[in-house]
Amino acid sequence: MSHIVVIGAGQAGSSLVAKLRNSGFDGRVTLIGEETAPPYQRPPLSKAYLLGEMTLERLYLRPESFYADNDITLRLGARVDAIDRNAREVVIGDERLKYDQLALTTGSTPRRLPAAIGGALDGVHVVRTLEDVDRIEPEFSKGRRVLIVGGGYIGLEAAAVASKKGVAVTVVEMADRILQRVAAPETSDYFRNLHTSHGVNIIEGVGLETLTGEGRVSGARLSDGTELEVDFVIVGVGIAPGSALADAAGLEIDNGIKTDAQGRSSDPAIWAAGDCASFPYRGGRIRLESVPNAIDQAEVVARNMMGEGADYVAKPWFWSDQYDVKLQIAGLNSGYDNVVTRPGDKDGSVSYWYYQGDTLLAVDAMNDPRAYMIGKRLIEGGKSPDRGSVADTNIELKSLM
Ligand SMILES: Cc1cc2nc3c(=O)[nH]c(=O)nc-3n(C[C@H](O)[C@H](O)[C@H](O)COP(=O)(O)OP(=O)(O)OC[C@H]3O[C@@H](n4cnc5c(N)ncnc54)[C@H](O)[C@@H]3O)c2cc1C
Repeated sequence: MSHIVVIGAGQAGSSLVAKLRNSGFDGRVTLIGEETAPPYQRPPLSKAYLLGEMTLERLYLRPESFYADNDITLRLGARVDAIDRNAREVVIGDERLKYDQLALTTGSTPRRLPAAIGGALDGVHVVRTLEDVDRIEPEFSKGRRVLIVGGGYIGLEAAAVASKKGVAVTVVEMADRILQRVAAPETSDYFRNLHTSHGVNIIEGVGLETLTGEGRVSGARLSDGTELEVDFVIVGVGIAPGSALADAAGLEIDNGIKTDAQGRSSDPAIWAAGDCASFPYRGGRIRLESVPNAIDQAEVVARNMMGEGADYVAKPWFWSDQYDVKLQIAGLNSGYDNVVTRPGDKDGSVSYWYYQGDTLLAVDAMNDPRAYMIGKRLIEGGKSPDRGSVADTNIELKSLM
């Protein structure tokens, strides 16, 4: 009987095995994960779950019984150490497990600060796993002081939660502005104002020089000489694709595991999906770090492992929750050269439309689900409404379709 092995029991791995079964795959399926929890969603780790407003069970992507019920062998707390491509086996400690086809859904790992600048001190955290959150949660008590290193989405979401819990928050961002890597100045301004109005101290254009403390972090020195006293630190300075296992097995790597449009790696028996995979996109290559991508790509890979031969066509979208603001993003803004602002009809609701020349690339919508939905449909349909019409609130958004 044909055996599909999937390494990485996260968002993509769980979607992939589910899709195999509901597409009628009747061979053996094994999903192997290093973490001990069944596959769970990560977005709430820096939002509702961190805030204590969501139970552990609700984090799980599927009920624990789902895997057994669907004849999927779920092996948790098991780290795959190597892939023996000649023998078509994965190595877990002393054990070897044969596969006919293998999928890598190994996710990504957060970048940490070097130990030389205090990155290994106690009280310095990253937010990636449930275990990370178990370590951070007890730190979040009223009156304590946190330094958040990195003003990207995860850092800012953690800042919002900390501030809601009465923690005194400082965010330090090395770039000129928060969200610089991912958003236009308009979106950065929006979130800077939002955080500042909640008492968060945002320092931009300044790097962290070093963290200080004996055993445990107690202070930070910034590149402009500022000294801060801190009780704990959250580091949100990006992630690196989980491609080490693939690299060691000799698969081609190019900002993640290099796949073709169908999700196949440089070894035809091995596939990849999710944060760890880089795939062809509009004449170049791209790697996306988002839940929608992990799900959609994993499902296409599952179908292709069964022989369908479908290309994965990414339709990027993303979201972030901070305080009472829901940001929804449609499309990818890379290459934009102008941004159109459209005020929403409620206080604090607005959308920013990214154009390259006259071509609509992406929309950031804050508390404006209608702008998001319409922007998404326009982008997916390859339509670019006139910029003046987008900016004109007398013109109904719907009419732009
Ligand atoms: C705090 C946080 C907030 C986020 N918020 C959002 C959001 O709002 N919206 C959004 O779209 N995305 C968000 N993301 C990103 C999103 O969660 C990821 O893009 C998504 O989880 C990727 O799925 P994946 O399956 O590729 O990786 P993961 O879900 O990370 O799963 C990979 C799994 O593989 C396991 N693994 C790796 N190597 C091995 C090995 N050798 N052996 C066994 N197991 C292994 C890992 O332990 C891990 O459990 C957020 C991420 C984080 C951390």
